[in-house]
Amino acid sequence: MSRPPLPGAPHLAWGPAGLSLDGQALDALATEHGTPLYVYSRPAMRAALAPYQRALAGRAHLVCYAMKANSNLAVLQTFAQAGCGFDIVSGGELARVRAAGGDPAKVVFSGLGKTRAEMAQALDAGIKCFNVESEAELDVLSDVAAASGRRAPVSLRVNPDVDARTHPYISTGLKGNKFGIAHTRALAAYRHAASLPGLQVVGIDCHIGSQITEIAPYLDALDRVLDLVEAIEAAGIPLHHLDLGGGLGITYTDEQPPGADALIAALLAKLDARGHGGRELLFEPGRSLVGNAGVLLTEVLYLKPGEDKNFCVVDAAMNDLMRPALYEAVMGIVPLRPRADGTPELRCDVVGPVCESGDWLGRDRSLAVQAGDRLAVLSAGAYGMAMASNYNSRGRPAELLLLDDGRAVQVRAREPVESLCALERLPDA
Ligand SMILES: *Cc1c(COP(=O)(O)O)cnc(C)c1O
Repeated sequence: MSRPPLPGAPHLAWGPAGLSLDGQALDALATEHGTPLYVYSRPAMRAALAPYQRALAGRAHLVCYAMKANSNLAVLQTFAQAGCGFDIVSGGELARVRAAGGDPAKVVFSGLGKTRAEMAQALDAGIKCFNVESEAELDVLSDVAAASGRRAPVSLRVNPDVDARTHPYISTGLKGNKFGIAHTRALAAYRHAASLPGLQVVGIDCHIGSQITEIAPYLDALDRVLDLVEAIEAAGIPLHHLDLGGGLGITYTDEQPPGADALIAALLAKLDARGHGGRELLFEPGRSLVGNAGVLLTEVLYLKPGEDKNFCVVDAAMNDLMRPALYEAVMGIVPLRPRADGTPELRCDVVGPVCESGDWLGRDRSLAVQAGDRLAVLSAGAYGMAMASNYNSRGRPAELLLLDDGRAVQVRAREPVESLCALERLPDA
């Protein structure tokens, strides 16, 4: 029986009942709750947060969980209880923060297409900061705030034009990206912000991409941001906080990203060396807090050997987990109970039932499985369920959270078929 390695996820282990998360046999959870099924570990989320908090101890700081990575209310509750704030990108996300008991005063609002209604909602909630992504947005936000006699706290998201050396779809800090204000325009934009009646400049922000596995791009971005901080303050506009975004990568297969503590230590060293060590620091990690804390469980429906290629057809699909289809992301796939009965290994693509050739979860895998066996897609805690859709009229998976006391709590029910049509109406004729 071969027990494949479990990269990047110390809370996963092989035991007598196969693969376990926090000591709980995943095959038994799949039997009880059905598949496809997301399972997350709360202790693993806390363990991923700990190096951020350790490295920032003694400094004024706020870790704002970038909740678009996984916005289940129980996941938000986990981070709210640990003292985190939240990085949101929509009014819907703000509503989720409140529903989970998070503190709106610890919320930063990112995103380049905020509507007036979303701005008003966030002002009413008393959020910590709007991360503004364009000069046009400054004017609208000032308008919305001034209309109700308020001043919106703002930070400008500057685009430092550094290459985060990650996938083009998840790189955000280059000139050609739609995000942020070009660093060459930043000083002028800050002057404009400071002149507007409805705004209060409080900080500066940058976020250069996602799944970054090196420290160097962060240091390059920080140098650019500090140059700007110095120029902006020399122009008489004080900046209270510095938001260095998120983006730290995780190990899916063989990536070796730095730990959050090593990354932050390097950033603090530069901040101290340049005389900026006393500022409040914000970080916006998403993936690195939840990615390796979750798995997606799926059942093998059919083995379909072919002339050119073999297929392992499973009951999870691109609508449940989009990363492979969207980014050609490679994620570990292992049987929950590796077979010891001589079942031969099949070289195959692991594909779902959705009617798209792009619907695959893994390519060219070697699996010794039979129909009815269950598989785990590893490192599926981030950008998994959060990106799930109802394509092909498939209900979205159920979600389980494993608590510290060993309980497995269903934190989202499997989406029933009735709710798929709930908002639709047939015309009379
Ligand atoms: C997506 C995003 C993050 C989080 O990115 P991760 O790679 O998940 O850490 C942080 N800040 C902003 C503005 C984002 O858009």
